[in-house]
Amino acid sequence: MIDDQQNNKHVNIFWTGGWDSTFRILQLIVQKKKVVQPYYILDPKRKSAGAELNAIKAVKLAVVERFPYTKELLRPLIIDNLDEMCTDKVLLNSFIEITKTYNVGRQYSWLACYCDEIGEKGVELSTQKPGELYEQIVKDTKHIVVGNDSFYVLEKNNKQSKLINLFQYFRFPLLEYTKIEMQEEAERFKFDDILELSWFCHAPKWNKYKCGTCTPCITAIEQGLGRRVQFLGHLRYYLIVKTGLRKLREKVMNH
Ligand SMILES: [Zn+2]
Repeated sequence: MIDDQQNNKHVNIFWTGGWDSTFRILQLIVQKKKVVQPYYILDPKRKSAGAELNAIKAVKLAVVERFPYTKELLRPLIIDNLDEMCTDKVLLNSFIEITKTYNVGRQYSWLACYCDEIGEKGVELSTQKPGELYEQIVKDTKHIVVGNDSFYVLEKNNKQSKLINLFQYFRFPLLEYTKIEMQEEAERFKFDDILELSWFCHAPKWNKYKCGTCTPCITAIEQGLGRRVQFLGHLRYYLIVKTGLRKLREKVMNH
């Protein structure tokens, strides 16, 4: 399947409804005019699942309205349930071991297992800099240019690292982008307001307000997109993350 993708047939991508993957989808269909197959992994336990799917719907409507040619390019979203995937527990556990060894997010083990199950390699992950995963993989990546597009993959010949077993399933188009660079590019190509419809908070308060304390909220505040978090979120960020209430609580809980 990777050959199909490299021949430019279509791009497979995990779409979370968040800033990074939404930017990449818009970049692919609006700017680069590529056919895109998005995947969404539904975790029913995730509080933000409804909000993420709503954001995806809103982005789709808006982009097709402004750029009608994208209707042909954006394939219907494939939604799969986290509880029903990764039936090969041996494979899954071997991936989980790798995430533990290299201290990368455990979600990558599920995503890799899923790619294995559906028989796809080169599925896009919209990981960007800075971040733990970026630091962990950037030195082992290779930049690949295909036509008007480019992305990073993990080098296959790095024998020292088992990360390749896990990350062979993915490619990373946004590895060297910052959130601000995505914003600027979106402005240049006139889809910045559509990108604004994306979602990013994992634990919205009353289904409406960004929490200010989950990883995506902290990232937004610390990487120049604080305007996307309302006052409540900033207040929570200041009290819980900045002034260390969270650490204090953890300390108390551990005693
Ligand atoms: Zn949040």
